[in-house]
Amino acid sequence: MTDKKISFYDLTFEDLQNYLTSNGLNPVASSILFTHYYKFKKIDPCTHHNLSPKIKKYLFENFSFHLPRVKTFFESDDKTVKFLLELSDGEQIETVIIPFQNKYTICLSSQVGCRMNCSFCFTGTQGLKRHLKTSEIIGQFIVAWNWLNDFRPNEEQIKNIVFMGQGEPLHNFDAVKKACQIFLDQHGTSIGIQKITISTAGYLPGLQRWNNEMPGVNLALSLHSADSNKRRELIPIDKKYPLEEVLAYIKTIPLARKQYVIFEYLMIDNFNDSTEDANAVANIVGNLHPIVNIIPFNPFPGSKYQRPTMDKILAFQQELMNFKIPAIVRGTKGDSILAACGQLNSEKTF
Ligand code: SF4
Repeated sequence: MTDKKISFYDLTFEDLQNYLTSNGLNPVASSILFTHYYKFKKIDPCTHHNLSPKIKKYLFENFSFHLPRVKTFFESDDKTVKFLLELSDGEQIETVIIPFQNKYTICLSSQVGCRMNCSFCFTGTQGLKRHLKTSEIIGQFIVAWNWLNDFRPNEEQIKNIVFMGQGEPLHNFDAVKKACQIFLDQHGTSIGIQKITISTAGYLPGLQRWNNEMPGVNLALSLHSADSNKRRELIPIDKKYPLEEVLAYIKTIPLARKQYVIFEYLMIDNFNDSTEDANAVANIVGNLHPIVNIIPFNPFPGSKYQRPTMDKILAFQQELMNFKIPAIVRGTKGDSILAACGQLNSEKTF
């Protein structure tokens, strides 16, 4: 029954106001509803005394508040949690929350599977099944928040959102954009604009919409190598959307003060971890206000790549810093439960 209704979680604040107005109802109810469902993350029906019986009836008859179901979850020693969520059609996705200084970052999926087929990625082995709806993206956040409320009371502080889970977010541009608008809305979760990061493998058709359509959230590009041959081995869509074209477009993106373009660099032993590799990276990103996020490769069952030693990783980082390029070595939180970057695959990891 619920699938004939509009999901509440598919609506921006303006969408909701428009629905109410066009049905002769007071649009002020939008504030009450966004506060209830987004600011307080309530999952029970809103019974606010200022909601008229007419509005309650309209909501009940026309909107669904269905959320993904937590099928199972895993907690690692470092308090990272990986959820396997079941969607209304039975498809499954993964969402991860990662602790950082008493707060959490949530890593959201944007698709069931992924078409980009990156060779290092567990998700890529699934292929694309379908795009997620906005409500299924928002739903991951609400479900994770409520899990924290139940299992780690007083820790329900999800302050950062990264689209780095399953899927290529810019391949599902409309749903991801709308989810960002909802996350940013001052009536609801009110997440800070620079607390949201969208990570792309370099999907140019989506990137080309960025300047005109995407609110000014952070962009992260999976770089992984400045060498075309190496990058293509890792990210096959580089053949269709070459790195030079992607970087030329990224150069046009206006940045706010203190905002960087994030370059993700998955470091693989004896593949892209040399001083020459670091020099090449510095050459191509140096003028793009970059920050390089070095991610030691997370092996998964059957992967052909290995993680470099920490000495090699630190030498690479130092080489970038010699060019005055900020470089961070990302911790490998969650890898004991296959929740780290590139390890998500809802078919095989539970
Ligand atoms: S790394 Fe990202 S874009 Fe590439 S296959 Fe995996 S999920 Fe898709």
